[in-house]
Amino acid sequence: MNINQPIPLCGTPDVIWINQQGVLIVGDYKSRTSCKVQESDIIQLSVYRVLLEHTQCKPVARIGYVHLKNGRRVRVKLLDEKTVISLYDQYQSIIHGRRAARCTGKSGYCRHCSYSERC
Ligand code: SF4
Repeated sequence: MNINQPIPLCGTPDVIWINQQGVLIVGDYKSRTSCKVQESDIIQLSVYRVLLEHTQCKPVARIGYVHLKNGRRVRVKLLDEKTVISLYDQYQSIIHGRRAARCTGKSGYCRHCSYSERC
């Protein structure tokens, strides 16, 4: 799926359920060993939610599910569209040099980052 408005986004959820009321619910399966939900998981699912809202003619739930490697399924509250747009704008500001990036302070994020040598 991809959209250009309100912001350019693309992606495909691992799974989409539809409940008895016809509401779509997004889910994602994580293969990493860490059994904790990360902030980035919630952002990812929230992006899928925005994509579904702009491409499907059905309501989309404000919650989603993260399936962890240990078999646990965690229900998470998703970000609203305004917040997703704000994150996109922050990202654009950083990559175009209008805003300085800040250290995440989270070793989990940095472990596989290709910039870790320079950061
Ligand atoms: S190592 Fe990567 S993820 Fe971590 S703070 Fe630096 S740029 Fe960000």
